[in-house]
Amino acid sequence: MQFSDLPLHNSILKAINEERYHTPTLVQEKAIPVILDNKDVIVSAQTGTGKTAAFALPILHQLFDKQDAEKRSKKIKALVVSPTRELAIQIEENFKKYGKYSNLRTTAVYGGVSIEPQKDILAKGVDILIATPGRLIDLHIQGHIDLTVLTTFVLDEADLMLDMGFINDVRKIEALCPRKKQTLLFSATMPEKITVLASSILNKPEKIEIDADDSVSKSIGQLLYYVPKKNKTDLCLHLLRNTINGRIIIFRRTKFGVDKLEQTLSKNGYKVTSIHGDKSQSLRNEAIATFKSNKATILIATDVAARGIDITKVDAVINFDLPNIPETYVHRIGRTGRAGKSGIAFSFCSADETSYIKLIQEILQRKIQIIEDHPFPLTKPKHKKQPNTISKHKKGRKSTASKKNKKRWY
Ligand code: AMP
Repeated sequence: MQFSDLPLHNSILKAINEERYHTPTLVQEKAIPVILDNKDVIVSAQTGTGKTAAFALPILHQLFDKQDAEKRSKKIKALVVSPTRELAIQIEENFKKYGKYSNLRTTAVYGGVSIEPQKDILAKGVDILIATPGRLIDLHIQGHIDLTVLTTFVLDEADLMLDMGFINDVRKIEALCPRKKQTLLFSATMPEKITVLASSILNKPEKIEIDADDSVSKSIGQLLYYVPKKNKTDLCLHLLRNTINGRIIIFRRTKFGVDKLEQTLSKNGYKVTSIHGDKSQSLRNEAIATFKSNKATILIATDVAARGIDITKVDAVINFDLPNIPETYVHRIGRTGRAGKSGIAFSFCSADETSYIKLIQEILQRKIQIIEDHPFPLTKPKHKKQPNTISKHKKGRKSTASKKNKKRWY
């Protein structure tokens, strides 16, 4: 299938052609016709599969013909709610690119920056609004958001939105929109709470599932290193020196961990930048710009800060700490291998993280390849010495067990 096979306005086709999109990705191929048919959809697809264009292109098309007739209407016609500021900015950029040959006005509003300029833009009139939940509600309370003529409501990264505790905000926002509207729900994963939310806000939705195997993870190599916690930094430096090239995102669980690793890598001469929740919005934007422009080739991030960010041409992801939520692993490795490009994910697993690997492999439904040949292997942790009587009793068996322990025990 080609984009030209889809009934999209020529100006939109022209804009995406300039972006060098020739064939629609699987999620686009499946979702665009259904959205153009005015149906509600619930789509499970990870970032990296092209899901932003899957909703942005049909929305632009639907509003395209109305733009002149409703030129003077200042009211919002499409609303995209996104969990993070970075993702909101990215969605705005995409709408602007795809809609550059239209007169449609798109803007993004999010917290962490001054609210005043956002009020001014809204006052001039906006057709497509992208917003994080908290700032949208603030602006609404202050009387700057009018959703009375809204026709399309999009919830992007719905699972993350709920993980971040936005469920009540999402319900509040949905209740501000007209009852009769088209609702599109996109989520990387489909836990029960998403199905419950969907059943209450969507009207006979069409379900579209993009299997991780069909999209991004097929093109991502995944390698697993068992390593003592204290040697993770050494292993990271070893791999950066000998194995991993190009542009790299390193995930750490804590903000402290991000800062510490950034210092170490900088000291070792790497061009590195970082994002986490304690950094101001302007510092986070600056870090992403630095990484995008290649001034830094390594970005260290926590999950929430990095979720949804589209940084193309990432060659490798390092899971320095393993996530305790297995879906997070899928999100992280989705940073590389975006839109069918190949990529590689390195995961470091210390003794206390072995249970996470089990969960991750369960949702991947496959084993991750283990690399044993590296300088910092994990040996079986020593248990406390048992009382004498018991150790005597078990002596005979102990020797065979310890032979086995030299082999893989995890
Ligand atoms: P997304 O999943 O929306 O974050 O998109 C991931 C990346 O794929 C972005 O860099 C898009 O610009 C790119 N992309 C989206 N659709 C296509 C397409 N049909 N062809 C090539 N690249 C695409």
